[in-house]
Amino acid sequence: MKVLIADDDLISRMITKAAVEQSGHECIVATDGDSAWELFKEHSPEAVVTDLMMPGLNGLDLCRNIRASEEDSYTYLILVTSHGSREDVLTGMEAGADDYVTKPLDPFSLHIRLLAAQRITSLHADLARYRSALTEQARTDPLTKLHNRLKLTEDLAQLHARSDRYSRDYCLAMVDVDNFKSYNDIYGHQAGDAALVSIAATLAGQVRQTDGVYRFGGEEFLMVLREQSAASAHGVLERVRSAVLELKIDHSGDPDGILSISAGVSAYTDGHRAGTEQLLREADLALYAAKAAGRNRVSLADALRSE
Ligand code: GH3
Ligand code: MG
Ligand code: MG
Repeated sequence: MKVLIADDDLISRMITKAAVEQSGHECIVATDGDSAWELFKEHSPEAVVTDLMMPGLNGLDLCRNIRASEEDSYTYLILVTSHGSREDVLTGMEAGADDYVTKPLDPFSLHIRLLAAQRITSLHADLARYRSALTEQARTDPLTKLHNRLKLTEDLAQLHARSDRYSRDYCLAMVDVDNFKSYNDIYGHQAGDAALVSIAATLAGQVRQTDGVYRFGGEEFLMVLREQSAASAHGVLERVRSAVLELKIDHSGDPDGILSISAGVSAYTDGHRAGTEQLLREADLALYAAKAAGRNRVSLADALRSE
């Protein structure tokens, strides 16, 4: 473990450092609370052994600062109290400390506390890993591995706020596989799944790194195209449509004999600063128009066609 020691007294600092090193840990040493706080931010130690009374930032403030700064990590905090008064210990534990040792420091006492520290911080590290894996899993579609609608909602809110603030444009494209029900009926659900995986990969392969492709639901995908005018977004979607045709997935239930997509595009532009819900609705209506016009085509939202 990386252990930060904070003590303004030279002798007790040396005793603590020797004890920590004897326990087999790496040591970072601060001579007062303020520099301890700076070193903490710089090195993110797993454990901190801090004196209670120090000039400037004292041990209690240091504990509070550390606890307030923690997000996904956990630091094990051990207070060193000079007289072991119950009052001090209670205040320290309330300020966020996990344990305490009294002066003069007994190396064995510190050693066993650092064993506990190791166990607790490693459990917290496991928890942080699980939490981050779950967060990602909850936002990923298991079939296509694209991000899902939950992630779309979060990303779109963020993009919209930024675009609103800095007057930037972006486009949305609602994409839907044509005659997919009959594809499943003819070739089976498993073949349907495989087709969706290929189409998802094709969509993702056609856009920039900063753009987003999400599985909106069923056989519908939503593409977020940043910094694009309606005309350039239209171009991107035409390219996407061709790329899906290029997959040459046979579909005997389709008039063209091949699996295709239709898309509807809406845009957040200077003349049209609509909310995300409205833009999604507009893209959906445009998609509906593309379907009505015969499928395998890209259609722009009404708000764009009148521009
Ligand atoms: P349209 O051209 O108008 O879009 O016709 P469609 O048949 O594609 O539209 P519809 O909404 O009637 O059918 C969508 C089909 O997509 C029905 C459903 O079984 C299928 N589907 C949705 N999700 C999945 C999936 O995860 N796997 C498979 N294999 N099929 C799916
Ligand atoms: Mg469909
Ligand atoms: Mg559909």
